Amino acid sequence: METKIFKIASIFENPDELQQAADILAQGGLVAFPTETVYGLGADGLNEEAVRAIYRAKGRPSDNPLILHICDTEMLPLLAREIPEAAVRLGLEFWPGPLTMVLPKTDRVPDAVSGGLDTVAIRFPNNLIARELIRRSGKPIAAPSANLSGSPSPTTAQHCIGDLMGRVQAIVDGGSCGVGLESTVISLVGEVPTVLRPGGITVEQLRAVLGEVRVDPAVTQPMEEGQKASSPGMKYKHYAPKAKVVLIDAAREAFIHYVNDRKDEGVFALCFSEDLSDLQTPAVCYGEQENPEDQARGLFSALRQLDDLGAQLVFAHCPVKDGIGLAVYNRLLRAAAFEVVTL
Ligand code: AMP
Ligand code: MG
Repeated sequence: METKIFKIASIFENPDELQQAADILAQGGLVAFPTETVYGLGADGLNEEAVRAIYRAKGRPSDNPLILHICDTEMLPLLAREIPEAAVRLGLEFWPGPLTMVLPKTDRVPDAVSGGLDTVAIRFPNNLIARELIRRSGKPIAAPSANLSGSPSPTTAQHCIGDLMGRVQAIVDGGSCGVGLESTVISLVGEVPTVLRPGGITVEQLRAVLGEVRVDPAVTQPMEEGQKASSPGMKYKHYAPKAKVVLIDAAREAFIHYVNDRKDEGVFALCFSEDLSDLQTPAVCYGEQENPEDQARGLFSALRQLDDLGAQLVFAHCPVKDGIGLAVYNRLLRAAAFEVVTL
């Protein structure tokens, strides 16, 4: 199919392009668009056929449910059967923003969205282009990341074009994403609120609002054979470049020695900007060492760059494991299929 590219500098400068993209969504088509986390591949979240087309375009396993994106809290009762007090408190503090809440679903939410679960994941994004697209389409928009399933999430329109050209009706180019990693997912259906995926809103920020918050063990540990995933996405290999990635948990000097000692084996380093000057192998930097926000913004682009360079084996310098660092660590662990060398 033909894929239209709409370049949207802002909602004020390109209202006509925005309207065309919103019309495609309202008519059941697929549109990739920017959010503050990563680019999403959107479809009308109440239209079962449109939602199924998302899974086909991405090659996504059909039991991995989608997040519904809303542009105001009026849409919430249509989608969530109950809105617990914790959801109200989190919404007041972090919406619009990079936080997804898992809530009991209403019958209006198609099984194709919820992956057959009795719950639905909902987010109110902060990006103005995303919000205006949702508002103009008049629908809650189901939108997973706009990449082919398994590959790193897209943080620029160029990444979406590489993955989805000819597979979707339109791609909205609205610049690069501010956070760079997918939203934090928190489940509010059990006894204790539980983080299923770390992201731009940190566990520390959630605890400051709610008190007790669990972090699902699958965030930092591989799932055991036969174990049931609290979030189906945890089961799948993710964010992986074509290269084999090994995470090196080490201070700067030890990391540099480890990589340089193996420079004849054709390895690449995925490192902090401060590491670059001392490395003797080809290297791609994903951010500054002391700046996890910067690492979050740079990680997925860096993983794609390693593919473009034809890297086969990558040693990645491990980030810190708290704050936004936990989200960066979680994505790298998955890119490395949990293979970690601690020095
Ligand atoms: P993506 O949109 O590709 O970034 O992935 C959405 C993430 O949210 C996946 O990890 C899903 O497994 C998770 N998710 C979506 N809906 C639910 C739900 N109802 N319960 C638990 N996790 C969910
Ligand atoms: Mg994804």
